[in-house]
Amino acid sequence: MNVLTCTAARRRMGAFHDEELPVSDQIAVRAHLEWCDPCAAAYEDMRLVRDGLRAAAPGRQALTVEEATTIRTSVVNRVRAEHTWSLAVRMRDMFDDMHFVYAGLGATVAMMVSVMAFAAMGDARRAWELFDLINPVRHADSPAGAARYKVEPYVIAADVYSVPPHTGRGGWTWYTGSAGWAYRMIIETFLGLKLEVDKLRFAPCLPPDWKSFKLHYRYRETHYRITLLRTGDRWDGPQKIVLDGSEQPGAILPLQGDRREHHAEVQFL
Ligand SMILES: [Zn+2]
Repeated sequence: MNVLTCTAARRRMGAFHDEELPVSDQIAVRAHLEWCDPCAAAYEDMRLVRDGLRAAAPGRQALTVEEATTIRTSVVNRVRAEHTWSLAVRMRDMFDDMHFVYAGLGATVAMMVSVMAFAAMGDARRAWELFDLINPVRHADSPAGAARYKVEPYVIAADVYSVPPHTGRGGWTWYTGSAGWAYRMIIETFLGLKLEVDKLRFAPCLPPDWKSFKLHYRYRETHYRITLLRTGDRWDGPQKIVLDGSEQPGAILPLQGDRREHHAEVQFL
C-alpha cells in the first residue's frame, strides 16, 4: 500500500474529507490518520471548521477560485501577523472553504465569520481564542506593542500588515465593514442577544468564568434593564425569565414600547 508522509497526508486532507481522492489515495490517507495522532487532530479541526462554515453559510453564492485564493492568502497573512503559527496552519486549511461563506471578504471579517462558526458549533473556547487574536486591545497592551501596532487600539482594523517593514502594524481603522461585523459578533454571538420583531431570545457563548452580565436594551423609546446570570455551571442550560417580577412562559422576553422602564432577569439553570 501507498504509505504517506505527514506532508503528503495533509496536502490531501481537504479532498479526503470531500471524498474526492482516487480510491487508493483515500485508503492511504485513512490509514495515515489511524496511526498519526497529530494529523488526526489536524483533520478533526478541519472537519469541525468545514462543517461549521457550511452550517453558518447555507446557500451563499460561490466565489471564483481566484477570489477564494485572495481571501485565503489575506487571512493566513493576517493570522501570521498575529504570531500564532500553529493557528495559521489551521486557518489555512479552514479558508480553503471560504468560498462557501461569503463573496468579497476582508481578512478581519473572515476571521469574525470563523468566530461565529465556532460559536454556532458550541465551541466557546475556540471562538474566544480567535477573538483574542483580533481584539485590537491586545495589540497595544505594552509600549513595544503600541509602537509596532501604531493605530488606535479601540477600533477594529481591517488589516494587520504581515510584510516588513510594517509587520504587525494595523491599517484601515475607522474605514472598515469589519467594525459592523465585530459589533454583531459581540452582541449576537458572544452576548447571545437575538431580536425577533418584538421579542428577545438569549443564547450566550461565554467563557466558563463569566457568571453574569447586564444589558441596557432600548426597544423604540422603552428601556429594558436586563441581568443575565448562570446559577448552573453552563450558559446553554434551560432558562427562567422574570420580567418586572413575573415569570414568563418559554425562554422569551416580550418587548413593548410603553415608555416605562422595565427590569428583567434571565437565569441559566
Ligand atoms: Zn501525520
